[in-house]
Amino acid sequence: MKKQIALLAGDGIGPDIMKEAVRVLEAIGERFGHSFSFTPAAVGGAGYDVYGTPLPEETLKACKDSDAILFGAVGGPKWDSVPKELRPEQGILGLRKELNLFANLRPVNVYDALVSASTLKEEVIRNVDVLIVRELTGGIYFGTPSERREINGEEGVVDTLVYKRSEMERIIRIGFESALLRSKKVTSVDKANVLESSRMWREVAEEVSKDFPEVELEHMLVDNAAMQLVRSPRSFDVIVTENLFGDILSDEASMISGSLGLLPSASLSGKGPGLFEPIHGSAPDIAGLGQANPLAAIASVAMLLKYGFEWEEEAQVVDQAIAEALATGARTSDIAEGGEQVFSTSAMTNAVLKALKASTAV
Ligand code: NAD
Repeated sequence: MKKQIALLAGDGIGPDIMKEAVRVLEAIGERFGHSFSFTPAAVGGAGYDVYGTPLPEETLKACKDSDAILFGAVGGPKWDSVPKELRPEQGILGLRKELNLFANLRPVNVYDALVSASTLKEEVIRNVDVLIVRELTGGIYFGTPSERREINGEEGVVDTLVYKRSEMERIIRIGFESALLRSKKVTSVDKANVLESSRMWREVAEEVSKDFPEVELEHMLVDNAAMQLVRSPRSFDVIVTENLFGDILSDEASMISGSLGLLPSASLSGKGPGLFEPIHGSAPDIAGLGQANPLAAIASVAMLLKYGFEWEEEAQVVDQAIAEALATGARTSDIAEGGEQVFSTSAMTNAVLKALKASTAV
């Protein structure tokens, strides 16, 4: 099969890890007889420097013309004084909006080889396998008005939380569809004891669940969910929630795995290309030094193969190669413990490629 992939490396370590992700894609192409054509395009600070905008027209077009988008990271101190609407982060926010990427999927797994790297106890995190499905284009982050205003003669502020029923329904449905392919349990997270939006969310979750009789639905208040994620993370399968709660819970959950450098994400629209990216930022402190952990970017390649192209076997080969590389002791500096040999960015990819080439079947 032939596929077109837009490569948006961005800033900081973005280009460092993108290079490694492409090596893995090429190895998958060779192994499974696929061919990829890549379209590199500028985004974030890199877009601003060349075109004066973090999301140039050319980049948006390259994304729309592609089957999938692989994204690195954007941002850095170099652009601190740039006006708000031209800051690098507007590159990714603009893409989400333009491509209607309303569903953000973040798997949280714990690799056996790294079970001691987490700040949580081994017996709590061993075999954790959670998928967080977060609504990405609505809620309080996008509602208007969002402004300072005078309230009863005093300075005050208003943010607005807006959701349409259809926006709730489509993301909750993705939660259920994902659970069907996993352990068939959905935890719908809300704050229904306080917020009207959450009461409606709960109502919609109940309605959608009728179409998925084989999937168990539980409702959980967000404060309790935050607690249960660190108390008994294995009790979750799929968590589905709105934008703000999902933002906070997914960052909390990322700490279960021990390093930001390990976790991928997918942002999907239901139709049109999906965007696949590591959850970490541009790590300007280590950019260009060959120290970045490429595994989150490589795991993003696995998500691209699975959710972008529906190539289950290819995705599994990549995921297994990552686990195998870690099992053989490959460690970048963010996950190395005292006395362990530290691998460079490219040496870590070499370990993944070695495992990928040695693996015979899934
Ligand atoms: P960060 O994720 O870039 O870095 C946090 C810490 O983790 C740093 O010490 C960094 O060196 C380390 N780290 C991150 N990824 C790593 C990797 N792959 N390997 C090894 N170590 C890694 O977060 P930050 O420092 O808060 O933000 C830096 C910049 O990134 C900011 O401009 C921020 O706005 C931006 N950012 C971008 C995105 C995105 O592009 N989606 C996401 C978050 C932050």
